[in-house]
Amino acid sequence: MSNSAKELLSKAVFDDFYVGSKGVGLIRSERLFLERGIDHGFSTRIGGISEPPFDTLNLGTSRNEPMSNILTNYRILCSAYGLDYDDLALVRHEHGSNILRLTGEDRGRGLDREPLEYSDGLVTNDPSVTLVTCHADCSAFFFYDKKHGAIGLAHAGWKGMYARIGQKMVLRMHDEFGTDPSDLSAVIGPCICEKCFEVDLNLGEAFEKEFDCPDILAAGTGKKSDKAYVSLRAAALIQLLDAGMSESSISIMDHCTMEEKDLFYSYRRDGKDTGSMAAYLKLNR
Ligand SMILES: [Zn+2]
Repeated sequence: MSNSAKELLSKAVFDDFYVGSKGVGLIRSERLFLERGIDHGFSTRIGGISEPPFDTLNLGTSRNEPMSNILTNYRILCSAYGLDYDDLALVRHEHGSNILRLTGEDRGRGLDREPLEYSDGLVTNDPSVTLVTCHADCSAFFFYDKKHGAIGLAHAGWKGMYARIGQKMVLRMHDEFGTDPSDLSAVIGPCICEKCFEVDLNLGEAFEKEFDCPDILAAGTGKKSDKAYVSLRAAALIQLLDAGMSESSISIMDHCTMEEKDLFYSYRRDGKDTGSMAAYLKLNR
């Protein structure tokens, strides 16, 4: 039987909440927040020092903003949320599905040290390194395997989502740490929603086929009839279920990066002259 996006999303757990500390805004998932063994967050644009159009908490290093500003913003985020700046390791996106296993040796890479190899997913069981990924419409996958003391964090633009990076993260955590899908909790981050994510019809049809989900294309939006509107959240859910996870162990952060201009940067809305949010995930020592 085909998947139904409508049915999956109507049953999904939406458990995010907004927190502010020292003026820095962050989105968290209750599912992960309640876990003592980890710390996590998805940043907003609130609380940094960047000037327009990057205002104010730009955490993306690929934009046309001085690196010194971005590193200052990372220090502000760390100070607000009790993170050790020296522990951060920042992904270098390839918009594919390559996954790296990090250790404490990688602390500082992508910030004050050389960049990591190109990848879109990071996994570790080492509490001395904090995983960081960047996002501007692209979703995030957070994974926690409490049983094996392991975590994973991935960046998922439409290419990564289509390439099933979420599902590949589950497999990689199995290979690296012995993770069984039933051991995992997962959270899907804020992203561009199905009302806003306009693509060409053939790409929409490719998503429909890949995820065996006829209604992954949002219908009846009243927008352009020669375009498709894809639900990245449905694609995310389906691939985690295909990986063997259960619906009850997955949560979604219920935000649209394109519509919520006060909270989020959006590449689709603002083009290249915009910043990036960051997701972070760490094991507590
Ligand atoms: Zn939207």
